[in-house]
Amino acid sequence: MWHLVLEGINNFALKEAPEPTLQSPTDVIVKVSATTICGSDVHFVLGEIEETPWGFPLGHECVGTIHQLGPDVRGFKLGDRVAVSPGVWCNQCDACRGYKYQTCESFGIFGSGKNLGDLGGAQAEFVRVPCADNTLSLIPDGVSDAQALTVGDMLCTGWTGVERAAVGPGATLLVFGAGPVGLCALHSARLQGVAKVIAVDVISDRLEVAKAMGADHVINASLEDVAEVVLELTDGRGAEAIVDAAGVKSTFNAWAPVAALNARISMVAIPSGPVELPLAQLQMKGITVWTGLADPNRTRRDFLLQSIRDGTLEPSLIFTETISFKNIVTGLQEFIERKPGLIKPLIVF
Ligand SMILES: [Zn+2]
Ligand SMILES: [Zn+2]
Repeated sequence: MWHLVLEGINNFALKEAPEPTLQSPTDVIVKVSATTICGSDVHFVLGEIEETPWGFPLGHECVGTIHQLGPDVRGFKLGDRVAVSPGVWCNQCDACRGYKYQTCESFGIFGSGKNLGDLGGAQAEFVRVPCADNTLSLIPDGVSDAQALTVGDMLCTGWTGVERAAVGPGATLLVFGAGPVGLCALHSARLQGVAKVIAVDVISDRLEVAKAMGADHVINASLEDVAEVVLELTDGRGAEAIVDAAGVKSTFNAWAPVAALNARISMVAIPSGPVELPLAQLQMKGITVWTGLADPNRTRRDFLLQSIRDGTLEPSLIFTETISFKNIVTGLQEFIERKPGLIKPLIVF
């Protein structure tokens, strides 16, 4: 089979490898039908995630069908259409029961190298999925591959960001960064009780998609004074909840001026190095900052898939183009170079 392998900084290629085989009775082999590229792949490619030995397969988001099935897998059968979670844990050991997945013996993240479980990549024709009953979700009839592909990472991360910003009913949510995660955050906000959604970015194409996905107001930070507009839109209060899906110096500096008193900020972007925060300004407003990534537990993923099936969520608008897997190297280059108009590519086989 073919998979995308990262050999060093900015050095990646499609390589041929043996098809993965079942290694444990709770494993499944998934034949991938769609995959995509994530901002965290770029961090790996640029060598920003330290101490990962090179030569590992990339990708942690995919959907497909069950090609081989371990004898102890209960909830799935051969041929089922499934969405794969980016992260693996058994959900049965003491660590998992205490919500400390990262100390679970089975813990790993697909396509993230030796230090994170040494699993295969999702940018591949086939992938071995450990702890399949917890790692997979059945895709309901009527939900497309593109829709289901968002659930494990983008939609879960966006949802978690909004949730950890602890929005109360009627709150105003401000989202920095209208990339895939920011778009999914604002898209899921109404379902979590948010009354007003403001999206901030510097790229107008992205802000157009933000409007289509549920933003009430969009602000182009390269053209407008963000704090001024936010205060105007909130009767001078500022936003009670903020999701930072950009994670750059200019957004860190913008937090305090746009935040309401006692606001909560979810920082879900992965910064590309150590950051400086204007702590005193945040302190004056009693602001709480939460940092983290998705909480992609099975219950949540299944709920999101049901919400897509019901028509409450339509996250596939984040995919701005479809490319064939054989062109994934070009796709990744364009993603790294931030090709104009590209938000997220849907990669099909
Ligand atoms: Zn990701
Ligand atoms: Zn466990």
